[in-house]
Amino acid sequence: MNEPVFNEMPLTGVCAALCAMMDVPAPACAEAANPLLTALARGKKAQRVFMYHPDAVAMWLYQRYPLLFAPVLAHTQLCLPLRAVMPSVTPVCFGSMYTGAQPAVHGIEGYVKPVITIDTFFDALIRAGKKPAIVSTAGDSLSMIYLERRMDYWIHDTIEQCNETALALIRRNQHDFILLYNGDYDAQMHRDGPMSAAALERLRENGQTFGAMAEAIGRYWAGQNTLIGFATDHGCHEIDGAMGSHGLSMPQDLNIAHFYGFYPASGG
Ligand SMILES: [Zn+2]
Repeated sequence: MNEPVFNEMPLTGVCAALCAMMDVPAPACAEAANPLLTALARGKKAQRVFMYHPDAVAMWLYQRYPLLFAPVLAHTQLCLPLRAVMPSVTPVCFGSMYTGAQPAVHGIEGYVKPVITIDTFFDALIRAGKKPAIVSTAGDSLSMIYLERRMDYWIHDTIEQCNETALALIRRNQHDFILLYNGDYDAQMHRDGPMSAAALERLRENGQTFGAMAEAIGRYWAGQNTLIGFATDHGCHEIDGAMGSHGLSMPQDLNIAHFYGFYPASGG
């Protein structure tokens, strides 16, 4: 019994679960909703959703360095072990996260970043009259593959600017759905290895950023039922030369853990 162990629940189940919680019909090609995520709302409707997307945060990082996830654990109630899609690279995985579809269906099957043309989560929200926003760094997948929709995009040069914008949008409380992308762990682990001091510092910052967002949400969105997620795209592994990589069909690259918290509106 030495075969690699892969998580069973697919990443593709997140899309329809978010839609079910927001009471919006899922996009056309979305696979079945993840039942554990859907159940987190206990039948209540999520009026506000904030999704934080750190890049390449493998499940084994959580297993090995749980203390770095302390702010994530403090603000969530559910940890979902999920299996990313192949090839386990950023545009392919985020393409599946917000279409609910396999790569062969959404059309991104390698490290390319075209605009996805099939029905997406964002199209589903817009049809339902919801207001989504994407906050991400220029050139990165989430800044590109969901363009050309009637929605708000904040594309910045730096992660700091992205995080400031996300906080400002949370304070303003005018969007039904906000997505924030932070790709710094991924970039650092490619250069120095996934367990290098520098990469682990980026991971610590990802957790702290999520914690700061969650606290702001607790303050400014208290009047609405709110779902927050710490949701990475794929994992990573160490390669020769103390560098990091991903993209393969191995547990280190495909097994990821998502964390979700649901907060019912506090009565006035
Ligand atoms: Zn990635």
